Amino acid sequence: MKMPSVKYQRGEMVMGRWPGSSLYYEVKVLGYDTKSQLYTVIYKDGTELELKEQDIRNIAGFQTRSRSRSRSRSPGRRRSRSRSPARTTRRSSSRTAAAVAAAAIMESAPSSRRDAKLKDTLEVRLSPLQQTSAAENNSNNKHEKKEENNTANKVNEFESKVEAEPELNQGRYNLRRRKEDGDAKPVETKPEQLEEKDAKVAAAAPANLSTPLDFGGKIGAYFWLLFLPAWVLFVVLQGDLEDPSLVNFPPPLPPLEEFWDAQALGFVILWVLLQALLYILPFGKLSEGMPLSSGERLKYRTNGFFAITVSALAAAAAVYLGVDLTYIHSHFLQLATATFLISVLLSAYLYVHSCYAEPAQLALGGNSGNVVYDFFKGRELNPRIKNFDLKFFCEMRPGLIGWCLINFAMALAEMKEQRLDAPSYSMILVNLFQLLYVVDGLWNEEAILTTMDLMHDGFGFMLAFGDLVWVPFTYTLQAYYLVSHPNPLSLPAVGAIITLKLVGFYIFRKSNSEKNAFRRNPSDPKLSHLKTIPTATGKSLLVSGWWGVVRHPNYLGDLIMALAWSLPCGFSHLLPWYYMIYFIILLVHRDSRDMSECRRKYGSAWDEYCRTVRYRIIPRVY
Ligand code: NDP
Repeated sequence: MKMPSVKYQRGEMVMGRWPGSSLYYEVKVLGYDTKSQLYTVIYKDGTELELKEQDIRNIAGFQTRSRSRSRSRSPGRRRSRSRSPARTTRRSSSRTAAAVAAAAIMESAPSSRRDAKLKDTLEVRLSPLQQTSAAENNSNNKHEKKEENNTANKVNEFESKVEAEPELNQGRYNLRRRKEDGDAKPVETKPEQLEEKDAKVAAAAPANLSTPLDFGGKIGAYFWLLFLPAWVLFVVLQGDLEDPSLVNFPPPLPPLEEFWDAQALGFVILWVLLQALLYILPFGKLSEGMPLSSGERLKYRTNGFFAITVSALAAAAAVYLGVDLTYIHSHFLQLATATFLISVLLSAYLYVHSCYAEPAQLALGGNSGNVVYDFFKGRELNPRIKNFDLKFFCEMRPGLIGWCLINFAMALAEMKEQRLDAPSYSMILVNLFQLLYVVDGLWNEEAILTTMDLMHDGFGFMLAFGDLVWVPFTYTLQAYYLVSHPNPLSLPAVGAIITLKLVGFYIFRKSNSEKNAFRRNPSDPKLSHLKTIPTATGKSLLVSGWWGVVRHPNYLGDLIMALAWSLPCGFSHLLPWYYMIYFIILLVHRDSRDMSECRRKYGSAWDEYCRTVRYRIIPRVY
């Protein structure tokens, strides 16, 4: 089958420019998409990319030029190379991105480990290299000199005036699934399917864009759709019992009419509208998200701190004016039901919205073709109403700020129920700790743009329910529990718990900020001391600093904080420890999801990272 009239034909061997560099490697053309005007090409290591025509060269002319090139370079040429961040790419063709990574990190490795690393990395055949300045700093000079003289160098460097591009520019290239993702059972995108002729079929069968099914696949989706709301109901009903324990399973169900309260629904709608209004007000920074597969970068109004400040003032004004916020405590079940209803309606809307989205706007997961699974997982990556980003809004605003409002209401309810003049120490600690967590998240709101939820997950029931129902109605369980289960704390205990919280917070904040800063500007001078591993996508991985201690230092900090949230509630019941237990499960699962995703994205470079940073979350333990 011949492709539409385009310069390069399917099956043709050409030279493709490697993202983020001025290097060209032999690639095979797999297809052409007339819509995006991109060629799908495959490199020798199986990496598939989408390239613009201007990044492809005819192989014949290229070889002639390469052969005729004198190795005694002109000063001009030398200059050009020394400017290029990709200058180390004049190395042997047997060196891979991972090999360079190994060279970069081997300096500090014992020699036995070096040999093993070298053996591992030299086995891969492709050598597209793109190094950040940090990575270059780490590169082995000896290696460079040796390879300078390697006239048998098979890598062709195209001497163009095009300067190497910064890492972030790689957004214009679209990395596809690697061949070696063998064990999964995704519906693979066949390159031919991307040809214009098949474009309609591809659009009609978005399953082609899918990755391995998560959360137990299609059967799992049914399970979670039923289990998650049932679990929220269970814990909400437990929190009010005198003896909240698993022995009370199933909890006594209230009559059906008790679930519903129109006023509660009105309250929730007002709250969401207030947050939406604060979100669209033109205060605060407009931040750019990470590049999408199209190269586009969406803008987000990151004014979360402003939103929580106004919300806090509104809550204070309400109390001052005599509004009884303990209503939130006494109508917890009805509020949860109303919010659940809204999350279901929103998820249905999101599913329908996604049916009108371009295939390029769909997330890699959540497009299995199975309605229930896709409804659960979310099909569209960034559903928007004009500039109003629904996923970002739900992730950061009504639920997260609502969490603090509920906690505050629980403190008022505790004072009322326990006849106290001020909330108990336990209640104050829980309120302050969780408020700090939320305020920090909103202050650093931009950082959410580099997280999995924003970058990879589609927006469907899983996130809508999680953001709107799960977070505000289960993360508040400790405060809810304390209203009717006082747990007096001694001052030394208060001090110890605060210290624990601060340690967790420090690890959490520092590690998240480090990665966020690196992803936003890999050549940030403040990060130049860190070692990195270049990957085939053009992005690098941090391999020292916080991300060299464990693979998810941010999860470690988060878990320590979770412990500090539960401790104020004592050990009489399991219920306030629910968050801790749930969070361990969530983060362990999230870590494994992220591991598979990163292995898919980064291939051998990721394996190299895992070999270097052995533990996932807890040093020397897990
Ligand atoms: P991360 O912020 O850890 O993001 C993972 C991504 O970071 C990877 O996919 C990869 O993306 C990049 N990455 C991984 N390793 C490296 C490395 N060595 N160098 C550079 N980049 C790397 O994941 P989450 O989104 O899960 O978590 C964000 C925060 O949110 C965490 O602190 C977590 O604890 C918290 N969280 C809290 C929850 C709660 O309910 N309280 C729920 C979930 C998360 P790429 O390479 O594509 O940039």
